[in-house]
Amino acid sequence: MRGVILHAPGDVRVEQRENPKVEQPTDAIIRLAATCVCGSDLWPYRGLEPVDGPAPMGHEYVGVVEEVGGDVQTIRAGQFVIGSFFASDNTCEICQAGYQSSCVHRVPMGSIGTQAELARIPLADGTLVATSQIPSDDLVPSLLAASDVLGTGWFGAVAADVQPGKTVAVIGDGAVGLLAVLAARQLGAERIIAMSRHEPRQKLALEFGATDIVTDRGDEGVAAVRELTNGLGAHSVIEAVGTQESMLQAIRSARPGGHVGYVGVAHGVELPGEELFFSHVHLHGGPAPVRRFLPDLIGLIWNRAIDPGRVFDLTLPLDQADEGYRAMDERRAIKALLRP
Ligand SMILES: [Zn+2]
Repeated sequence: MRGVILHAPGDVRVEQRENPKVEQPTDAIIRLAATCVCGSDLWPYRGLEPVDGPAPMGHEYVGVVEEVGGDVQTIRAGQFVIGSFFASDNTCEICQAGYQSSCVHRVPMGSIGTQAELARIPLADGTLVATSQIPSDDLVPSLLAASDVLGTGWFGAVAADVQPGKTVAVIGDGAVGLLAVLAARQLGAERIIAMSRHEPRQKLALEFGATDIVTDRGDEGVAAVRELTNGLGAHSVIEAVGTQESMLQAIRSARPGGHVGYVGVAHGVELPGEELFFSHVHLHGGPAPVRRFLPDLIGLIWNRAIDPGRVFDLTLPLDQADEGYRAMDERRAIKALLRP
């Protein structure tokens, strides 16, 4: 099969890889209907994270089950399935509490590499959610978005305790930030402040439910949010970047008693303890337990209540994956969908 391999920063190739096989009796093999490039794939692509190359790439996936191992009970060949970027058993205490991305048996899908024609999915019964039928083609991008960026934005909103009638600020205008806007709208927020200085992304944020756009960053961004909230700060802030500046901006944009949901993968973030102590802000976040939300999100997509697939503004054949990485790196594309 063909699959994406990162050899060194900036060097992404589509190469022949060995076809995956059932290795554990709990595995499934799926044929990808679509996959995509994640903002987090750009960290190693840009050389900001070490490349232990040649490394298979990709952790987002939807597809049709080809084969299952002998212990798989609920998933069967021919089903269309969606899973998240951590395989999880969905039965351990941590999974049952809704933190499947910290499952005691978790397997990071990035180690398998789903930017490929086929992928092995560990713990298939716990990891995969099947749709009732094969979806029509126009639903595939939205179902793929549920695999990571929608689920991550949704967790950001839940972690930030978004509630009906409240004011939410979203820091980050990548796919996760934009879908955090959509999640905040679905969860009933009254006012949603999207921080973005890119016109096409501002437009999509407004279509997803943002009520205000702020183009300032850092301290000016904080001041702008305070100005919009009677000097108090937002009830809920969703952090979807992962830098020192964005994390401090998030904490400082929240009012005392407010909540920050942080879902941008932290790189070099160090929190000032004293400031945190006096802020009275709740912090919760981490790698999103997307599996918790998948059944509900798939339902909303299936009923066409939400259209998160609109974050894919570039669709390419898998063979042109390098152009997908380049376009996202140069911010010419919000998110690139790859068709195997
Ligand atoms: Zn578990």
